[in-house]
Amino acid sequence: MNDRHIMHMDLDTFYVSVERKIDSRLQYKPLLVGGTSDRGVVAACSYETRGYGVHSGMSMKLARQLCPEAIVIRGNAGTYSKHSDEVTEIIKQETPLFEKSSIDEFYADMTGMDRFYDCYKIATEIRRKIIKETGLPISFGLSVNKVVSKIATGEAKPNNQLMIDNGFEKQFMAPLSIKKIPQVGDKTYQTLRHLGVKRIKTLQEMQEEMLIKVLGKNGSLIWRRAQGVDNRPVIAFNERKSISTERTFDKDTIDVKKLKSILIAMTENLAYQLRRGDKLTACINVKIKYSDFNTYSKQMRIPYCSADHILIPKILEIFERLYNRRLLVRLIGIRFSHLVTGNYQINLFDDTETALNLYNALDNVREKYGDRAVVRASGLGARTIGRMINPFNGLPPVVLAHRKQ
Ligand SMILES: [Mg+2]
Repeated sequence: MNDRHIMHMDLDTFYVSVERKIDSRLQYKPLLVGGTSDRGVVAACSYETRGYGVHSGMSMKLARQLCPEAIVIRGNAGTYSKHSDEVTEIIKQETPLFEKSSIDEFYADMTGMDRFYDCYKIATEIRRKIIKETGLPISFGLSVNKVVSKIATGEAKPNNQLMIDNGFEKQFMAPLSIKKIPQVGDKTYQTLRHLGVKRIKTLQEMQEEMLIKVLGKNGSLIWRRAQGVDNRPVIAFNERKSISTERTFDKDTIDVKKLKSILIAMTENLAYQLRRGDKLTACINVKIKYSDFNTYSKQMRIPYCSADHILIPKILEIFERLYNRRLLVRLIGIRFSHLVTGNYQINLFDDTETALNLYNALDNVREKYGDRAVVRASGLGARTIGRMINPFNGLPPVVLAHRKQ
C-alpha cells in the first residue's frame, strides 16, 4: 500500500475566503462568519481572530466579546456551495480519481501519474490553477496515504503545500500533538492526556494492546494512524452513496394529504440520518410510481444541507411539480445524493443557538428512543415509512419495538 500517491487538498478558512473574494475590503481584517444575532453561532473565523481564543462552534456573542474589532458576516450556504462546486470542477478535470470528502476538502489518488509526471509538480500546478481561477487559497499535503496527507495539509496551512516522502511518515508525525490525528476527538484527547500522552511519538512507542485496553476498538485504529498507516482507498466522487427510502402502498392511493405527510416523515428521517453521519446532500429526488406502473421522478440541486426545515419545503415543491397525473399512486420515494461530509451548522446561519440546540436535542431523543421517537406533527400520519438501512454503517436504523408518539 506504500506505493500510492495520495493528495489531500483543503480550502483555507473556506467561508472567510469566499467572503473576502466577494468583498476585498475584508482582506487581512478579523472576520467572523455565522449567525449574526447575539444568539448565533460562529461557523468560521479568520486567522486574525484566532489569537483572541475564537474558534468555530462558539457562540457569536462570546466571540464578539473576545474579539470586539471583528467584522461579523452572516453566512450564505448557497454562495459557498457554488464556490465549492467550482473547485470540484477543476479537481475533476485535473485528477484521474478524486473524492470530495467535505464542502472544502478533497482527496485525489495520483498513483500511476508518477510514471509520466512528477506528482508533486502536478499537485503544485493544480493548487496554482485553483487559486488563479477561483481566487480562493487552498493548501495540500501529499504522501502515501490519506491520514498522513491530511495531517500534512494541516501543517502546511495557511495557503501552502507539503510533501512527506515515502518512508518518512512516522518521523513527520512524531513531534506533532495527538490532537492532529483526525480520529482523536475531544474525549479521546482528554483520556490520553490523563495518561500523560501528548505527542504522537509517545503513541508510536506504545504497545497496540495497551491502547486497545484504554480506548477499546478505537485504540487499534488510533495506534495504526499514529504509525502513519492508513489503507483506506480514495472513493470516486460519483460512486459516493446516496441515501433513499421508498414506500409501496398496500392499496394504491390518491390521498394527497397522506402522500405529503409520508414525504415529510421520510425527509425528516433521511435528514436525521445525514446529520448522524455528519453528511450534507446537494441533490434531492422524489419518485412516484402510479398504479399503471409508470414511474416518474424529478430532482433538484440545492445548496449543501441536512436541515429538515429547509429540505421539507423543497421536497414538497418537487412533489407538487411531479404529481400531475391525478392517478392512483402505488409508490413514493425520496433520494438524497451528492453527499459530502459536513456539519449542519451550514444551514443555521440565519438561526440561533436555540435552533442548533433544538436539532441536537431532537437528534439525541432519536438516538435514545429510535428514529421515529420525535416527528413533526404534519408527518404523524405516516406510521411506517418503509424499510431503511443506515447508509453509513450498513445497519438498520435504531427503531425500538415500542415507539412512543
Ligand atoms: Mg478548510
